Amino acid sequence: MGFRIDRFATLYLFHPARRLAAAGKPSIPILMYHGIAGDSEAGVHPYYRISTAPQVFARQMAYLEDHGYRTASLAEALRGLRDPAAAITASSRSVVITFDDGYSDFYQNAFPILERHGFTASVFLPTAYIGDERRQLKGRECLTWSEIRELQRHGISFGSHTVTHPQLRDLDAQAVKEEVVASKQTIEQKLGCAVESFAYPYAFPETEAEFKGRLRDLLGQAGYKNGVCTTVGRADPTSDTFFLRRLPVNSDDDPRLFEAKLEGAYDWLAKPQYLMKLAKGWARSRPPGRG
Ligand SMILES: [Zn+2]
Repeated sequence: MGFRIDRFATLYLFHPARRLAAAGKPSIPILMYHGIAGDSEAGVHPYYRISTAPQVFARQMAYLEDHGYRTASLAEALRGLRDPAAAITASSRSVVITFDDGYSDFYQNAFPILERHGFTASVFLPTAYIGDERRQLKGRECLTWSEIRELQRHGISFGSHTVTHPQLRDLDAQAVKEEVVASKQTIEQKLGCAVESFAYPYAFPETEAEFKGRLRDLLGQAGYKNGVCTTVGRADPTSDTFFLRRLPVNSDDDPRLFEAKLEGAYDWLAKPQYLMKLAKGWARSRPPGRG
């Protein structure tokens, strides 16, 4: 395996430093999973892999239970962070577990393990890929509505991950609205309950303040209460309610890296991530053929 600067810096620089510092503002880790399956994803850099092997996921959930974590919904996490009285207990050992893309291996592999620990989770559905018959997204099978209803009865909550899983920033305003509104309506019709949470697909354009402002307004108008994105970090009282940061997890998160992420030693990555996006945006904004 190649050298991973993110892993090295997290374990040897930021985790020790984090432990030395007194506990700062309350924060809650929101874990971001995709598939719970054993594919190796050879050729993909560990940072970008989206599969967590079932046995690794089982170990991670056991770690959470052994270390006194309890799972919270996004709404509960936000309440805990915003209410100073509740903040200390809420943030001491709360974790939010999220799954993007609605893959069917959640039903087969993740849910039985979650249930064993009495844990709950939020699953974000791209509704064009969810059917009464099984459909696929990026070559992976997705959940069916009957599986989703069964999971809902067992306490799993569902949010929107748009309709067609596009990079929203590349769409015009009307198309963005469609993606945000129609996906929410579909899930609400199918499940008979309000959808409050939204997960932004792909890299979040966090450097683009105007786009973010418009999307935030749109989400609020559509009736969403909160949301998550792919920016790395934990949620704290200053977090943007609709674009909460998360900690990406996959098979490469051995116990040390997993623990370091939970404890905030991965949050440093948000700054280089931001600078990279700023640089890419700057390159994109330059007219081709000039300089
Ligand atoms: Zn996705």
